[in-house]
Amino acid sequence: MQNNLSNWEKAINFHGHACPGLAYGVRASEIALEKLASERAKDEELVAIVETDACSVDGIQVITGCTLGKGNLIFKDIGKQAFTFALRKSEKAIRIVMQRVNIEDRKEKIKYILEGPEQEVCKIQWVDAKIPEKARIFNSVRCEKCGEMFMESRGRLEEGRVVCLSCFREYSRGW
Ligand SMILES: [Zn+2]
Ligand SMILES: [Zn+2]
Repeated sequence: MQNNLSNWEKAINFHGHACPGLAYGVRASEIALEKLASERAKDEELVAIVETDACSVDGIQVITGCTLGKGNLIFKDIGKQAFTFALRKSEKAIRIVMQRVNIEDRKEKIKYILEGPEQEVCKIQWVDAKIPEKARIFNSVRCEKCGEMFMESRGRLEEGRVVCLSCFREYSRGW
């Protein structure tokens, strides 16, 4: 099914509002896809490493198809509007650092982020990609405290019982 929405419109539909942060994500995605000559990731061939968890990440998920759920979006809690994109099949990765835009008017600011000269809107670096291995499917186990299923790799041992992180934290808080 083909629709004629622009990237920006698609991003707003997903994110819920138009904001400069979202524009950062959309522009970074467009630049990355162009430079890497990639198409939107259907599976996991493209990986994004995001250094923020702000609005921009929604733009990246919509436009690049790198999503949290698919495991090809990796969040590093650094607090920078910086995004690295890598193709699994090659070793090249592009890191795009969005630059501060000092425009007062919100609409103008968004327009500038989306359409302004690339070299002013962002800084582009080519880096060696250390591409994380494909998302692994983990066994599910049942928490012996709350009875809910969870990913085995997230399990903790508490007095010899396998428990989930929620139950484990509850326990540790008492100390
Ligand atoms: Zn937003
Ligand atoms: Zn539990």
